[in-house]
Parts: sequence; structure tokens; C-alpha cells
Amino acid sequence: MAPQIYISGELYDKENAKISVFDHGLLYGDGVFEGIRSYGGKVFRLERHLDRLWESAKAIWLEIPLTKDEMAEAIYNTLAVNGVKDGYIRVVVTRGEGTLGLDPNRCANPEVIIIADRIALYPKEYYENGLEIITVSVMRNHPAALSPRIKSLNYLNNILAKIEGLQAGCIEALMLNHKGEVSECTGDNIFIVRRGALLTPPNEAGILEGITRDAVMELARKAGIEVRETPLTKHDVYVAEECFLTGSAAEVVPVIKVDARTIGGGKPGPVTRDLMARFHELTKSADSSNCTNHR
Ligand code: PMP
Repeated sequence: MAPQIYISGELYDKENAKISVFDHGLLYGDGVFEGIRSYGGKVFRLERHLDRLWESAKAIWLEIPLTKDEMAEAIYNTLAVNGVKDGYIRVVVTRGEGTLGLDPNRCANPEVIIIADRIALYPKEYYENGLEIITVSVMRNHPAALSPRIKSLNYLNNILAKIEGLQAGCIEALMLNHKGEVSECTGDNIFIVRRGALLTPPNEAGILEGITRDAVMELARKAGIEVRETPLTKHDVYVAEECFLTGSAAEVVPVIKVDARTIGGGKPGPVTRDLMARFHELTKSADSSNCTNHR
């Protein structure tokens, strides 16, 4: 059976899953989205993803035409119809079909799209041996211009950084903020280990508040590791004992080189490996869902 895509209350075969070329999501990147994992048929931290989606929508004056419960149900149905248990879910809410002008008031109905797909995992070597990343020249969006906390359909900032990383042979790229501080990677948050403590840039550094980031901070605290959200410079990263990235798609992935400097011993460190294992356990436990209605 062809993959079934949910669009605003209906399911369509992939080939017929289409929205208007006048949708402002396409014309202007006017919309919001979430990338979510499902493990063993349970959606990981669904409530947090829905909260973030609703917050992103609120920040751009977009009213999502469903309740959170209805959205959760639509997500679970789309997973079930596609027979996806361990997969990746993309939820998109666009401003909807409008005119060629910017005015969102001329868009009648937001479109809600849900895609349930199997996840293409990063190659195993990345998790075993670690990634090499570089700092790119593309600065993370200035929070006063477009807050990185909004997960909007306008990802050009990240895409330009990604291209620069790819051209240097790196699949992830580290972005700095307008103050020259470390913010995050193009689709992942960053952590370092320094003197045994886990450090990650705070919200004010201009990051997306990653849900995997939150989960890893919780796991670290539970494991008795000191966790601090604190501004970081490139120097902090270069001299770190360990470094890793977190994201729904990537999960927890070690970094062993940044800007050609070897991090720590050049191999995934003990804190990183411990947190990778704890995260893996979490995704298998009932705790991962946090959504009692739809378990
Ligand atoms: N930062 C950016 C820019 C992202 O797009 C993402 C999600 N892909 C993340 C961080 C990680 O967030 P999460 O753990 O919620 O997937």
C-alpha cells in the first residue's frame, strides 16, 4: 500500500497528497512544524512536541484548527494506518491557501499535514566513532529578528549553514549567534563535558529548545551529573573533554572533531556513551511517551 499522508482530516496516497501552490507555507515559509520519533508504537514526548508546536504557532499568530488531543489522535492514526511503529513523524501546519501578497489574513484555512515515515538512521559508525563538525560562517538567526525558538517552515538559516558544512565534508555544522557564542547545529543541540559537568547553551543563546536536549539533561541530572545551561564559546568546545549533539532524528551522537581540533581523546567519551545508553533505555520505557490518552 502506498504511504498514507494526512492532510487536514483526510488520508491520501503519497502521489495524491498535495496542497495548493498558493499556500503561504510554500510561498513564504509561513507555517510551523515538528519532527517527532515513535518507538515501539509510542510517540516520544508527544505532549512536549505538541506544546512546542502550539507555542511556535502562537508566536506567528497561527491558529491550529485542531485541539491537541485531536492532533495526537490524528498522529496515532496516521502511524497505525501506515503500520509504522519505530519511525519519524513530521507534523506541518501551514498558513494555508491565500493570495500572492504577504497578508496572512487572506489565507482562509491553515493546512495540517502529518507524514509517518520510517527513519533513515545515521550510519552506525557515527555513533560508534563520533562525528566531525565545523563552525560555519552563517550566523544563527538573531533572536530579535526571528526567534530560533519558533520551529517555523523557514529553515533557510539552517540550510545555508548545512550547505557550508557539507561543502567542508561535515554532515552537521555548528552555528554561532550574533554575539559569537555557540548556539546549536543546523538540526541538533550541542553539549560539552567539562571537568565532569555537562554544559549546553541556554535559550538566550538563540537555540531551539530541543526535546531530546531536555530529555538528556533530565537523564544526566538523575545520573548525578552536574548540568549547566551556560553561554559557551568556540574555545570552550575546543578544550572540552567530550562533545555530543542531540535531536529527534539524531538522538545522541558523539562529536570527536570540531574545526579540525580533536575533542578529548578523539573517541566518544564515557559521559557521552553513558548518556547514549540511558537515552536508548528511555526510548524503550513507558516514560518516553508522556501521553496517557493515546498509549
Ligand atoms: N535545533 C534545531 C535547529 C532543530 O531543527 C532541531 C530539531 N531537528 C533541534 C535543535 C533538536 O530538537 P529536538 O530534540 O526537539 O528534535
